[in-house]
Order: sequence, then C-alpha cells, then structure tokens
Amino acid sequence: MITISKSSYIRGLQCPKSFYLNFFHNQFGISRDEQDTTKFEIGHDVGRYAQGLFPGGIDCGYVKTNDRVNSCKLTKKAISDGVEIIYEAAFEYDGLLCFADILVKKGNQWIIYEVKSSTSIKDYHINDAAFQYYVISNNIPVLDAFIVYLSNQYVRNGEIDIRQLFVMKSVKNKILTLQENIALITIQLKKLTEAVNIPDIKISKNCDDPFTCDFKGYCWKDIPKYSVFNIQNMRGKQFELYNMGVVEIKDIPSSFHLNEKQLLEVNCFLKGNDYVDKTAIKDFLNKVCYPLYFLDFETYMSAMPEHDNSRPYQQIPFQFSLYYQKAEDSEPIPFSFLAENAGDPRKSFIENLIAQTNNPGSIMVYNAGFEKSRINEFARDFPEYEEELMNINGRIIDLMEPFRQKAYYKPAMRGSYSMKYVLPSIDPKYSYDNLNIKEGGQASSEFLRLRTLIDTNEINQIRKSLIDYCNQDTYGMVVVLDELEKIR
Ligand code: SF4
Repeated sequence: MITISKSSYIRGLQCPKSFYLNFFHNQFGISRDEQDTTKFEIGHDVGRYAQGLFPGGIDCGYVKTNDRVNSCKLTKKAISDGVEIIYEAAFEYDGLLCFADILVKKGNQWIIYEVKSSTSIKDYHINDAAFQYYVISNNIPVLDAFIVYLSNQYVRNGEIDIRQLFVMKSVKNKILTLQENIALITIQLKKLTEAVNIPDIKISKNCDDPFTCDFKGYCWKDIPKYSVFNIQNMRGKQFELYNMGVVEIKDIPSSFHLNEKQLLEVNCFLKGNDYVDKTAIKDFLNKVCYPLYFLDFETYMSAMPEHDNSRPYQQIPFQFSLYYQKAEDSEPIPFSFLAENAGDPRKSFIENLIAQTNNPGSIMVYNAGFEKSRINEFARDFPEYEEELMNINGRIIDLMEPFRQKAYYKPAMRGSYSMKYVLPSIDPKYSYDNLNIKEGGQASSEFLRLRTLIDTNEINQIRKSLIDYCNQDTYGMVVVLDELEKIR
C-alpha cells in the first residue's frame, strides 16, 4: 500500500496533479539541486538547535534509522520504555506517515513541537501541523501542538541564546478545526494513487503558491518564452486570459482591460518598436551629479545568526563593486571589495565603502531599496559609522526608476525591468549567459562554499567569478546610463 507522507499531503493540497506526478512520474519534475540541499541543511540546522529547548531526548529520525518502519518501531519502543522527550518521532496511521520534530510527555499526554526555519507562521505550516496532529493523535493522546519558529527580533550577542531565538506558539485550536477535512482529503489522495491517467488539471496560480511546483517545467512546457504570463503586474489577470484560451500576446482581445504600462508593453511587442519618454528621462538625468559612483552589493544570509549584532536571516553584505566616474567624459575607474572567505565581513565592507565613496556626487544603484536597506542596517548595527553611512544613503539614485516607470522600454526586455533583461536588451554583448555566476543567489552560495574548500586554485577561481559577476552588474549601470544620456 502507498504511504502518504506529510510533504506529499501538502503537495496534494497545492495541486492533486503534482501529488500524482510525484508518485508516478517523478522524472518529469526538477532534479534536486544545490539550493534544495541548502534549504534542507538550513532546516536541519535550525531543527538541531531547537532540540536544545528540550535537551536529553532520544532521536528516532530517518537520518538515524534510514527507514521509516524502523523509525516508527523505535518511537513505539521509546514511548513504551517511558522516554519523555523524543526527537523526530515517527508515526503511521491509516497509510499516512509523519515525523514530529520534538515530542514531549506531560502527565499522560504528549505535546508536539514542530520546528520551522522561518520567522513567522505561514498558512501551510498550519496544514502541516494539522496533518501531524491527525496522525499522532490517532496513535497517542496529544495535549497540545506548537509551532516553533525563529524570532526576527533576536540579536545575537555571544553564544546563541536559544530561549530568545525561538518563539513557540500553540496552534491547537486552529488545527482542530481542520481534522475532519484531513480525513476527506486523504481519501481523495488515496483514490488518486489508483488512477490510471494523469489528472487533467490546468496551470493556475497554485503552480507558485505556496511553493513553486517541481513540475512547472512539465506543465508549462507549451507556454512561449514571452506570453501573457510575462506582462508586468497582472495580479491574476494572466490566468483570466489563459482560461479564455489566450496565451500569446497577439491573441489578447482588444476588449480586455490592460493598464497604460501593460498596453505599452503589448504594443511595443506587437509592432517591434522601442518606447522612449524623453521628458521623463531628462527629468531623471537632471538629478544626477558628477562625480558619479556606480555601486552594487552582494549578500548572503543564514537562518541562525552567525555573527554578533546580527539577526536570523539578516542579509550580510560580503562584496561590492564600484565604478567611479569623475566627469561625464571621463573613463569610469573600477574598484572591487570581496570579503575574506570566513568571519564577519561587515566592518571591513563598511570601511572600504566609506573610503571609496568619500567625494561628493551621486551614487547610482539599480533597485535602491536593497542597497539602502543594507546601509540602514549597517548604521543600526555599527552606529559608529552612522553619519558617513547616512551621507551615502542620501546620495543614492535608483537607475531602475526610468525602466520601472516604462520611460524606456524595448520588446527584448520581455516585460521585465531587471538588470538581467535591461542590459542585454541595450547591448547584447553584456549577456549573463557567458558568466560562471549568473545571478545573486548563486553568488551567495558560491561565497559560502568558499569556507568549505581547501584547493587554492578552486578558491581563486570562485573569487574571480564573484568579482566578474558583480562587476558586470555594476558596469552594466555605466552602459545603461550612457544609453539614457544619448537620448537627452
Ligand atoms: S505545475 Fe501547476 S498544474 Fe502542474 S502539477 Fe504543478 S501545480 Fe499542478
């Protein structure tokens, strides 16, 4: 008989087709890549720390037994032996399987603690805890169920204080109301495991909610590279079109309401025209003062705060790239800062940043909210630099603005105003395809990987790739501003 795990159940809630494909056509899904491994490691790390809230338990988990049946047997034995704290306690009921992160005995009943590596309780956490409660309460008496998550207010100071780091919240009342549903849903999911054909379910907003589905590549394979799904800010209207049988831009009925910017995108695509609003670009350029700096940050984050004066999931800047242009007709001069492979990079980052931007003049960034937030966090965590940092923030100009406002648009941008689309659309030789590191997430994981390496050649190669990637984003701004200047 097929066993339905908690993750399969959650998958089935998101989409029965995904549940079915995962059972019978797993090869259609994405392969587990480095980012998934990182997610697993984060969850495992947080779970291990949370066990410290209830020390002295015994572990019955899959990692220890390598077999769900053994985990269930070990849990049963621990309970009958009188063990009062169990980690990764495994239970089966009516073909359903779950593991409780921490199970604690109180009197004759048990309390479930489910650990989440997030800083708040999400809706799917409630479904997840409800499934656990359903399976476990059909095995042993359950007094309460808590979700344990990370406090975003916690600031590390010395050793991690797990009592301050974790928040525990009872969700029993919420999950009790879902118990009847679970019985009904699992009946439907079990029926699906006997179905011969793949369920006929159309793509929908569920494909990305609450998670990006593993089978998107399979179900979305016929959606063209540029379609109604690329138009900006459609807020669900793209599925209205899709359900009317409209996928291609050219098929959007003229009666279908699109806002001014969406219409601009569509018309540029259909006519193959660029769009330029000269007045808006002029207004933007009038704000720019030389000497000019072009600046881009790279960051990483970790669930458990690694350094003093840092919080769970705080973005830690480890690299910046800067081009300094004295006057409109001078050559931009590059500077790169890349932190040492280990240790807290922030002080050295701040000092280099202040030293390299100490002349007056505008500081150009792309998507200013990101860099400004990191600088505000620097000022909060290192108040001794507050004045210089606030001076930097006050000089920042967001080069993304004319593109976000669609004052400049090319069909090759495919509805996006991200630098990854804007830059190659202006000058195709600046494609990101030729770089070893192609996006920010990869830059963070490569930087973190440096800590685990000993081969100097490999370390140097990664550090060079990091510098190349960050430089491309920054030099890209020089190219983009130059393009806007030509219009003035
Ligand atoms: S991609 Fe969408 S339709 Fe396909 S299985 Fe996933 S959620 Fe379901």
